[in-house]
Amino acid sequence: MGKGKQMRRRIVLIEHNMTERLANKTRLAAAGYAVDAYERPPARIEGAGLVVFAAPRGGAVAQRCGAVRALAAQSPLLVIAPPDAAGEAYLSGADQVVAPDAPPALLLARCRAAMSSPRPAEAARQAAGFAEPAAAGFAHRRCAALVRIGAGGDVRAGLAAAGYHVRLMSAGDLLAATPREEWPDLIALAAAPGEADRLIALVAALRQQMNEAPRSCAIVAVLPRCAADHEAVLLDVGAGEVLFDDQLGGDGGSATSLRLRAAQRRAQLIARQHARALEEQQLATQDPLTGLYNRRYLMPRLEAALYGSAGGAVLVLDLDRFKAINDRHGHAAGDAVLQEVGAILSAAAGAAFDAARMGGEEFVLLMPAAAEAEAVALAEHIRARICGRPITVPGLSGNMQLRVTASVGVAAFGPGHAGDAASVLAAADRALIKAKRAGRNLVLLAREGPAGRHVMAGTVAPICA
Ligand code: GH3
Ligand code: MG
Ligand code: MG
Repeated sequence: MGKGKQMRRRIVLIEHNMTERLANKTRLAAAGYAVDAYERPPARIEGAGLVVFAAPRGGAVAQRCGAVRALAAQSPLLVIAPPDAAGEAYLSGADQVVAPDAPPALLLARCRAAMSSPRPAEAARQAAGFAEPAAAGFAHRRCAALVRIGAGGDVRAGLAAAGYHVRLMSAGDLLAATPREEWPDLIALAAAPGEADRLIALVAALRQQMNEAPRSCAIVAVLPRCAADHEAVLLDVGAGEVLFDDQLGGDGGSATSLRLRAAQRRAQLIARQHARALEEQQLATQDPLTGLYNRRYLMPRLEAALYGSAGGAVLVLDLDRFKAINDRHGHAAGDAVLQEVGAILSAAAGAAFDAARMGGEEFVLLMPAAAEAEAVALAEHIRARICGRPITVPGLSGNMQLRVTASVGVAAFGPGHAGDAASVLAAADRALIKAKRAGRNLVLLAREGPAGRHVMAGTVAPICA
């Protein structure tokens, strides 16, 4: 892990002009990066956290950027190029572009933005699509929402010239929860002179919303030239691109429209990557059969509840004679029972508690901050609910109704409980085993004794009729 972190902090700088190369090397090194500087692209670039390429003046920006992009396929790429060549640089695969005369703070902000761009492998997969002039996804839905802050730049004409259908919106409407489908491809936030602070706050709020619910939408901040020194902070708080209102002044300009397109493409990649990460996280913490949490999710939650100041309780629930259901009616019938019991537990857990399938036909309900009596009552409710109604299952010869019972061990714990998650679960498990021995379809409580050790309380709930 440490290695990965170090790798991300190594910058390969390719700059033909010696004076500029030394100046940029010094700036990047002063910001804490290890910099390998080259006059021309080296034969190989591997493991660089970022490649900074200063496109030589005098044309061929696209080819040269493309060559460096291919050479450094695994690293984010920042291209130093004049504004009129920025579009070409983005189209050739740059993650960020900065002007040669940009102040050092802006160069560093663009470096950070490039390093937080989508994983290179993901970007590389998309590279072909990026090169297509009008991929279907772009052609049919390009919608921009424009929010004017103060009497902020009216860049409607510029956005329209860049190919967007523009809708004016208020900041309030934008921040109010909008269904995902209604999100535009791009949000342009245009600030009047003196409104930069409100613009920064709005960008940060939008970025936070998008971090919580990934959306394929580019956030573009539009500043008046006189507020240019806010560009770096806007990038840092999460603007996908920062433009000046004169760049969107009416004729659009192909360089500007390419930059908007590149920002939109980056937003799509980031949203896709983010959604995939959330999905993977869900897969890693969820039991696929019941949709409940799994052991991996539950154990740290239990540790946290034990460490916390509110106490709580755990229920360990095991289905009675479950093996017989499989043996008599088939595995599919067993699975249907597990799913139905999962639904009962999930309903019982509600939003306050966590229900998990720990494996096989064993479940745990974690009840942070719950008192012992509440835990016993809920355990009894669940037990009665499971045996109270027959469950419809696919049997070996058609659907059938099964009556199922479960035994439950309960262990409550006070604030600052001495034991760990395993010992509290073991206490609940001992109560469960005792319930099995006492005839099953029972709730038994292991009461917390002196020094946090659980002892059997012998509380037996009535067997359901
Ligand atoms: P007891 O009342 O003592 O708990 O008896 P039991 O039969 O419920 O317990 P035992 O541990 O003997 O059997 C558990 C069975 O659960 C054995 C195994 O085949 C079955 N099982 C485990 N995971 C699954 C699953 O995902 N689906 C199905 N259908 N059965 C499963
Ligand atoms: Mg069992
Ligand atoms: Mg079992």
